Amino acid sequence: MNVTHTGQVTYSAPVSKGIILLRIKLTEPDSVDFKAGQYLAVLLPDSDKAAYYSIASSPSKAGEVELLVKEDEFGAGALYLYSLKEGDSLQLHMPMGSAFLREDSDRNVVFVAGASGASYIRSMIHYLDESNHLAHREIHYFLGCREEDELLESDYMHALADKYQGFHYHPALSDQEDWDGHTGLITDVVERLMPNDMSEWEAYSAGSPAMVKAVADLLIANKSLMPASFFSDMYTPEI
Ligand SMILES: Cc1cc2nc3c(=O)[nH]c(=O)nc-3n(C[C@H](O)[C@H](O)[C@H](O)COP(=O)(O)OP(=O)(O)OC[C@H]3O[C@@H](n4cnc5c(N)ncnc54)[C@H](O)[C@@H]3O)c2cc1C
Repeated sequence: MNVTHTGQVTYSAPVSKGIILLRIKLTEPDSVDFKAGQYLAVLLPDSDKAAYYSIASSPSKAGEVELLVKEDEFGAGALYLYSLKEGDSLQLHMPMGSAFLREDSDRNVVFVAGASGASYIRSMIHYLDESNHLAHREIHYFLGCREEDELLESDYMHALADKYQGFHYHPALSDQEDWDGHTGLITDVVERLMPNDMSEWEAYSAGSPAMVKAVADLLIANKSLMPASFFSDMYTPEI
């Protein structure tokens, strides 16, 4: 895979349990044209291997990209990215993926993420907020994690829900007892809270391939979502 961009790490720190945020300033070339929801490949040094990560930042910041990287003691990509310090450079291939935010649409949207899949959704929500596209439509964001300290940017999401009447944030935990929010599988929460006729909606989802397929099956079979309105780079329903 060819290098399209070289970047330099300007920030690396944990943002939730088991996830770091890595900010990369683009050096050569010094900007990237991408759409919210696309991903990139990190080229691993001394290897022909690449590791794939959603671009977690908004495209309005063209001179940098942010990645949210899940800790994985066996994953070569995760180990490499965790080893990088401020000032280190790295090689990237981007943009990639077709499950990006449809900007020409003003339909209602449901976002469904599992754990580090929140990275994919983050780019789109930040972009919609910055470009004033969160008002005048219904947006529901479901985020499923095991425990509360794995949730990403909950304060920001709650603040958006306070600010915009149509924005709804639904975190759900599967493995924590002392929590008075939603519990259980994220698909069960989506089933319970979303209307039965979603034929005019669009959906974006990321997480494990099994979770994304379960979300697509549920929305299409039980909620009348059009298969062509389901977007994910992890699973594509038959159209
Ligand atoms: C479109 C897309 C977007 C993605 N976005 C993100 C994102 O934003 N953030 C994120 O954290 N992830 C993301 N992922 C997932 C990420 O690409 C995978 O976790 C990938 O496996 C990481 O690459 P790696 O090189 O670290 O793992 P690899 O080295 O390829 O390993 C793959 C898996 O096998 C396991 N494994 C490898 N060797 C061993 C061994 N010897 N023993 C036991 N287990 C082993 C690893 O633990 C790892 O989970 C995305 C994936 C895709 C396809």
